[in-house]
Amino acid sequence: MKKSWMIIPLLLLTGCTEENVKKIDVEMYNAVGDSLGKIKVAEQSSGVKLSVDLKGLPAGEHAIHIHDKGKCKAPDFKSAGNHFNPDKKEHGLLHPKGAHAGDLPNLIVEDDGAVKADLMAPNITLKDGKTSLFTKEGTAIVIDEGKDDGMTSPSGDSGKR
Ligand code: ZN
Repeated sequence: MKKSWMIIPLLLLTGCTEENVKKIDVEMYNAVGDSLGKIKVAEQSSGVKLSVDLKGLPAGEHAIHIHDKGKCKAPDFKSAGNHFNPDKKEHGLLHPKGAHAGDLPNLIVEDDGAVKADLMAPNITLKDGKTSLFTKEGTAIVIDEGKDDGMTSPSGDSGKR
């Protein structure tokens, strides 16, 4: 009787962890530490969906990539490493030998500094495996000053982070 009572909370705990891994909210900050809002990251059958809802960005087109280190040290964010690239491909959604798994379509920020967009990253997952965003060193989402031309290595000539 005592043994079976012990098993129940363990099973519940496993269920909770599984649920958390399928969906996470990522808080985004600029170089001076102000919060810009959140990107909701959710596992889907066709990859990972990023629901971007941010304010306070410079208007215009900006590159956004998933990087291979989970460290975001302002002001230059170089600590976030390179684009997440577990399949050792070339940079750019338009590159014939691309793309990095962490390459994403550009964000278009409105004149008021706001952007709402859903982006799909078909080659990554929140589950276990080679293309999982939960690596030992972690991963990060970084928005760049300029736009990604979809071709130029290593990051589409997209300027400062
Ligand atoms: Zn890239």
